[in-house]
Amino acid sequence: MNKNMDDDSDLERFMDRLHNRNFDAETCFLCARRLEPLGPTAEHVIPRWAQKRFDLWDQTIKLLNGTHIPYRYLTVPCCDECNKYRLHPIEDSVLAAVENGAEAVKALGNRVLWLWLGKIIYGLLYRELLLPFDRRDPTKGTIINDSLLREYETHLILLQQARGKLETVDFVPGSIFIFNCQQPQTALKQWDLLDNIDSLFIGVRMGRVGIVGSLCDGGAQSMSSVFPDEVFRMQLHPMQFREVCATVAYRASTATRIPHLLTVEGTPHKTYQLPLMGYSLKPLFETWEPAVYAKFLAAYLGYKYDDVFFPPDKVLTFMVNSDRSFRYFPLDTDEGA
Ligand SMILES: [Zn+2]
Repeated sequence: MNKNMDDDSDLERFMDRLHNRNFDAETCFLCARRLEPLGPTAEHVIPRWAQKRFDLWDQTIKLLNGTHIPYRYLTVPCCDECNKYRLHPIEDSVLAAVENGAEAVKALGNRVLWLWLGKIIYGLLYRELLLPFDRRDPTKGTIINDSLLREYETHLILLQQARGKLETVDFVPGSIFIFNCQQPQTALKQWDLLDNIDSLFIGVRMGRVGIVGSLCDGGAQSMSSVFPDEVFRMQLHPMQFREVCATVAYRASTATRIPHLLTVEGTPHKTYQLPLMGYSLKPLFETWEPAVYAKFLAAYLGYKYDDVFFPPDKVLTFMVNSDRSFRYFPLDTDEGA
């Protein structure tokens, strides 16, 4: 039988191509195919619709080396097929849902939201790989090297769901949370993005909706109740959104299980996840340590550590009042955040 190198129907070739891929400006960040000389396109890591809607074109995003890059330059090499026919429909559905609020976003289902968040975080990593660490001295190498990106190979394989080449059976590879948010008046303040690449955590607030994902925990945070129901009924203030992000990001860093996946050849290939609890009685997360959680909170709020942590175990919160009732925290006249 004649098998084309590009044939994705053969599971071994499919996996090999992703494993042996190049990470460079001539290779599609998603499908790993070399770009046609005449047809390279760029995929915006932060979708164009979001840049337009939230006035982000000239805003900058902070990279791992501490420098800032304007959102509009935050693109990754992407083939026409992936860009137009695979990723665009996902963007269209997310845009339509975001306009209609948290319930509409929830209705998209966690599979679509995982792919949407998963593309952004992988795109950020890929973009950083292409940027020189020190723009004044390109010999110092790029911000991240490709061995770091190779550590995210499982994530890349699971992203192939966007191309319809793979399907996860009865599971989503991470935990997704959707929150109602208060909407500040200025477009720019209606947007927020927080991430942590170590645990593939990402939180995005857009208008009245906040979407938060711990993308490689195998669903562990979804299984254990991280937040009381009330938190999902509240309309979060921008600072409260950052607080829930700190909670999920810290939790993600304490996960005790690495999901075990098994992929079986098919059209599309089918990936199964073995039960997370397995035969171990160990809890899914390490014990909550307020002093460590406070580091995440301080970083996401932009506060000093001493202003959020009060030894031995008190941590600042915007979620509850002193009597422990949930706190309505309205946007003030200068819009808080
Ligand atoms: Zn592609």
